[in-house]
Amino acid sequence: MGVTGPSQTGIPLFAIVAQACSPSGWNIRTARSPQAEVLQIHLTTVPILTLSTEPDSYVWRIGEDELDDFNTKRTWESIRHRHDPLTWTDHVWYKGAIPRHAIMLWLTHLNRLPTRDMLVHWGMHIENACCICGAHPETRDHLFLHCEFTEEIWLQVTRRLGYRPIVFHTWQAFAAWMDIKDSTTPQTLRRFVSQAVIYAIWYERNNRFHNNIATPPHIIFKAMDIQIRDAILAKSHCRKFKRLMQVWLRYL
Ligand SMILES: [Zn+2]
Repeated sequence: MGVTGPSQTGIPLFAIVAQACSPSGWNIRTARSPQAEVLQIHLTTVPILTLSTEPDSYVWRIGEDELDDFNTKRTWESIRHRHDPLTWTDHVWYKGAIPRHAIMLWLTHLNRLPTRDMLVHWGMHIENACCICGAHPETRDHLFLHCEFTEEIWLQVTRRLGYRPIVFHTWQAFAAWMDIKDSTTPQTLRRFVSQAVIYAIWYERNNRFHNNIATPPHIIFKAMDIQIRDAILAKSHCRKFKRLMQVWLRYL
């Protein structure tokens, strides 16, 4: 009933239950608001308490459950705002993912990486041209999907995964590709490699932006290939990673 509760009911704010009832019934003012009416109706379902000499006690209740003690986790679960599950969480957070790669993909999904178009959007007075090609505005989709440098890497990656060259027209198309299940490549390998590509591109972009060092795509791919082999080898005890090495080396 909020702050008007005491005045609506006539029960002082810090009254104990025994002060709100007598053997003949509840000491509550006649209802003058819908909430007060709901309270009155509810109280008709509660047996009248006889005057008791026992001290009051309280219980924590969440939904229908009475808890022995206050439970932070369950309380938070019951009051927190729940977002609908996002479609892409599975290919970001899966067992075996390299944490720094997963975080990078998570940020790109949210479009939170400081690409130049975002920096301009946030109020910085800089050029928004792509740090790699300089020919287009540096948006997330351009940098990770459409830059000619990036396309070259995707070309090599998709070939190694057994696909014909793929051009991802939209971020959604790229996200959907990570989720499909097909007989060409296990989903885990596709996700694992995709995360490595996103990480490598952002690393290269920063190397050019901050250090003025440029590495050609085929060298980047070579380094990534070695990283992927090492990582698969290190995770070969995981059920999902057992067969991945032979799949990754099929189209050398
Ligand atoms: Zn570019």
